[in-house]
Amino acid sequence: MKRNANPETVLPADLFFYTIPYGNPDMMLYKETMYEHFGHTLPNKRHSLRTQTTCLSYHDDLFTVTVQLPVDERRKLFIHVGRNALEVACECGMPGEHLCAHAYYSIMDLMHYKNTSLKDYYWAGLQSEIKGKHRFLDVQINSGNIKIKPKQVFGNLYKSGLGFEGADKLNLKTYPIKPKTDSNRNVLGFALLYFSGGSIAKLPILIPFTATTNKSGTDIAYYDYYLRSDRPYTYNGEMTTEQLMLCEFCYEMFRLTKKTGKQPYSNNPSEEWVKALPNLFKLWQRALPLLSQERFLKSCINYGTWNDKPRKFDMKDCRIYAKSFSIGFILKDRCDYFTLEKMIKVSETDSSEDLWKMPLFVFNWREGNYYLVDSLRDEEVLNWVYRFSNKMTIMRADLNDLHNRFIAELSSNYEVLYLPYKGKKPQAYNSFVAISDPENS
Ligand SMILES: [Zn+2]
Repeated sequence: MKRNANPETVLPADLFFYTIPYGNPDMMLYKETMYEHFGHTLPNKRHSLRTQTTCLSYHDDLFTVTVQLPVDERRKLFIHVGRNALEVACECGMPGEHLCAHAYYSIMDLMHYKNTSLKDYYWAGLQSEIKGKHRFLDVQINSGNIKIKPKQVFGNLYKSGLGFEGADKLNLKTYPIKPKTDSNRNVLGFALLYFSGGSIAKLPILIPFTATTNKSGTDIAYYDYYLRSDRPYTYNGEMTTEQLMLCEFCYEMFRLTKKTGKQPYSNNPSEEWVKALPNLFKLWQRALPLLSQERFLKSCINYGTWNDKPRKFDMKDCRIYAKSFSIGFILKDRCDYFTLEKMIKVSETDSSEDLWKMPLFVFNWREGNYYLVDSLRDEEVLNWVYRFSNKMTIMRADLNDLHNRFIAELSSNYEVLYLPYKGKKPQAYNSFVAISDPENS
């Protein structure tokens, strides 16, 4: 058997050390392993019962013990506990390099004839001594027993190849994330209620609602009630100053639109509608900056059939913007006629195709983006455009008349472009283009 010493421990060269590999990474020394090395199990039971092992010392990473077998002289053993193997030398020299009975019975005795973990006896690299006294270790020796632990001042000593006591590796468990404080909490949110069904619409209002958040606190799990100004107020949570102000605006919007009902776009709206619109617009303008702080802002298109309790199915996340789009027009030459079309740009991008119209807003339902008109004049112009499939057709012969009646006014308020026949790049509209001889354009 060859020596399999820990590199940090130099075993005395004048002694033969017999190596007993553990055969496992846990430094467990099994009885069976010992049987295999000795060649047979306890050949003489008396030995097992009457072996006397006395621990003497631990120096230079070597345990020294004496062993007294019943019919033999007392022998001195040197035991080295390595990370992967136990090495033992005996005064008898182990003739034939076989594990001798002294070593075998002594180790079995020290193991109390049980499978034993040797981790408590493994202190590779920590055995340094000053004037014969251990520097890092507290070594306590009784006759049949040796206890080693780190000196208190060093706390938990790192063992080479083993790690710290109680943690051979850092394996942090994954704990469930602590739910946010507003998990499953009653909260106040705001909803944009609107109805825009083709040619019929209702005036959009903002309304507070109470709801309960989901586990993560990021969204609504279920809705309780809309807080209507004509119903008992039931939210008991704290409200910010902004929320208090928003509620006031909401109640005013509710009051204003109570009698405006649904209106067809194509007809002249009712007197109540016309009267309510400017005030409603002002309320929206004042409410919008306050809404930026609100965490639960929803839109609900089913205003036509709404009741006291928001239906989760109808409620969508939304964002409401002010002063965020521009209106323009483009006159397109289509050979024998012209079309006048709207151009609505959001962040410089032409979004005309994606935006729908409802009173006071244009919106992209799918993306949940709602854009409040800039002015009531814009509202009027947009309603005019949207009313007729967003497109107006003009015969070539009527261009001059169109200019005088419409485009002159439009172009002094909005950007108007002109796209020549088969042209790809729109040009700035000017009166010259429109009133010049159509045959030469
Ligand atoms: Zn021996």
